[in-house]
Amino acid sequence: MIQQAIARYLERTRQTTFSPKAVLFDMDGVLYDSMRFHARSWHEIATRHQLVSVPEDYYMFEGRTGHSTIDELFQRSFGRTATVEEKEHIYAQKAALFNQYNDGQPMTGAREVLEQVKGYGLQTLVVTGSGQLSLIDKLNHSYPGCFIRAKMVTAYDVTYGKPHPEPYLMGLEKAGVQKNEAIIIENAPMGVQSGAAAGIFTIAVNTGPLPDQVLTEAGADLLYPDMNSLAKDWKKIMENSFSATLNRNQEEQKQKLWIELHK
Ligand code: MG
Repeated sequence: MIQQAIARYLERTRQTTFSPKAVLFDMDGVLYDSMRFHARSWHEIATRHQLVSVPEDYYMFEGRTGHSTIDELFQRSFGRTATVEEKEHIYAQKAALFNQYNDGQPMTGAREVLEQVKGYGLQTLVVTGSGQLSLIDKLNHSYPGCFIRAKMVTAYDVTYGKPHPEPYLMGLEKAGVQKNEAIIIENAPMGVQSGAAAGIFTIAVNTGPLPDQVLTEAGADLLYPDMNSLAKDWKKIMENSFSATLNRNQEEQKQKLWIELHK
């Protein structure tokens, strides 16, 4: 399964090697079990402003910036985009309610994934649409020694946000690696779309209520039901990525030899 996924990825992105050096982690729903609080606070605040939605909508919207979510709700409910004042006002209310609900619980299995990743000497970065202040303090508290501010992409860094490839391309730049030298871990359809559009190998972890199909259709290269099962498979993913590189190189050598012989 992993081997085929890597082969399909190399085919799709027209690359010959896959040699991971960095892992780009999404935050909500991957490092933190926070999506249920986001969905709840979004839904409550939207309803307060007569904006039409159901809680599941926010799992589909996840990854995009808060302001773009508010525009989408305004288009849907009133047939127009929101003004800057409306966006700022509603987003501030939603952020306040989220902070009230959020218990800051790390995602089960995320520490195990990080241990594996660090064990292989890979860089660890966070790429999130979140605009929460003091995010790095929170990350340092939950995952000591894993993340630094210089290697984070947040809502403050981007112009477009997910599903645009921009945030993950920025992540590559901050890591100083090429697209075939990174792995993304995402839980949201728009995050997966962003990763796939950036040409990076994207692993979806379905930690929310959406059907698996939504994530595979968004372009996930591999899919896991939770972070624990991903941690258990990490060794296999690493071994297969190295052998994929090896197989490709051998194939290229063979082709070169064939061309030489048939000159
Ligand atoms: Mg997420």
